[in-house]
Amino acid sequence: MEKITVDYQSCDKLVDFLKKHPVPEDKEEPTKINLPEDVTKNFYLALVAICHQTTPMTGPALQGTVDGTFLRGWDYLRAAMLKATANDNSIVYPASLSKITDKTLSGIIKGDDGKGEISNLEERVRLLNDMGSKMQQSGAGSVQQLFEKSEGHIDNYGEKKGLYELLSEFEAYSDPVKKKSSYFLSLMKNQGFWNYSDEENLLPVVDYHEIRIALRLGTVKINDEELRSKLANKQEVTWQDDIDIRSGVQKALVYVAKESGLGHSKLHYFLWNLSRNCCNRDSPHCSSHGGKCALPQRYVQLGQEIGSVSCLFSPFCESSGKEGKLFDHVVKTHYY
Ligand code: SF4
Repeated sequence: MEKITVDYQSCDKLVDFLKKHPVPEDKEEPTKINLPEDVTKNFYLALVAICHQTTPMTGPALQGTVDGTFLRGWDYLRAAMLKATANDNSIVYPASLSKITDKTLSGIIKGDDGKGEISNLEERVRLLNDMGSKMQQSGAGSVQQLFEKSEGHIDNYGEKKGLYELLSEFEAYSDPVKKKSSYFLSLMKNQGFWNYSDEENLLPVVDYHEIRIALRLGTVKINDEELRSKLANKQEVTWQDDIDIRSGVQKALVYVAKESGLGHSKLHYFLWNLSRNCCNRDSPHCSSHGGKCALPQRYVQLGQEIGSVSCLFSPFCESSGKEGKLFDHVVKTHYY
């Protein structure tokens, strides 16, 4: 038996739930972005390029206060970068990215109280430098030029390169499972900036929240005892195991998105929000939200409509209320 397999029976339980209930729209939580459109596109390109491992299994989580609001992970990074970009639009364009320094990025991340820190700062700077330099070398002054070069195609077509391949030339976007590029392309679509001629080729985003909830729901099974033990005990896995686990989760997501009719983006936002808020690493809300669930209101409303007082997936989740839940795997990567 393969080390990692998709469990289609468990996937079907999720599909049933998704077909029965009105899943809220896919959207970013409201963040006031008063940047010009082209700046916003390049802002997201730079932001997604360095958004990985913001809540590492070991080491400090990225969190802090920006403009008086306490935020964590992606929300914090987005708010801190947005503030810096609003002060100086040029920082997200290739000329600045190619030269950005540790000191500049660390200044951006510091937040209101000057205490915000991000892991692997030097590596993130290197990723931005690489992307800025390569864009400059190819004569692209903005990510919009990559879109125009692709003629709105996600995958390659004929002799021409699609957006996945164009983005993969940057180290930050070179993940074989295409996490960051799928996320960035979804953002561009959801913000109303880009439409794709071959939207069916946009793959689901697989991040660590989606891995954790897939492992716990049972939509993806780990059949190898040694690997399973590593996932239960927060031990580091190999580069290949990382790719295989994420590819398995991606395969399950493709199936669920298609069978439920939800589409990848709507499914991603639903699972991401539920996992991050309810199916968190150490105190999942299997039987109760415990009065401190930060699930966005539109998902809370769905819970109220169906009379749920805990995680929406409790009635059919294989791990609900059980000991020894699996965790998203530990791996050193800048892919997600
Ligand atoms: S029931 Fe518990 S383990 Fe299952 S998805 Fe919900 S919070 Fe996670």
